[in-house]
Amino acid sequence: MEKRSQFDQFEASELFCPRCRAARPVRRHLLLVLPSGNKYEYRCSVCGTTVGGKDDNDASEFAEILRRT
Ligand SMILES: [Zn+2]
Repeated sequence: MEKRSQFDQFEASELFCPRCRAARPVRRHLLLVLPSGNKYEYRCSVCGTTVGGKDDNDASEFAEILRRT
């Protein structure tokens, strides 16, 4: 089991889910960790459909991975 970090915490509250045809609470999943920042995806917490994405400019996670390897 992959250890969950604070970067997987709930962030955006609700987004429209095309499958549920309603606004649903979403969960954020970390997709990629890049030197320039992290890439996230938001998924409907009810059906799991991807409802959005986000990039940030936080390079600290990448630096942390470099330290661990
Ligand atoms: Zn849904």
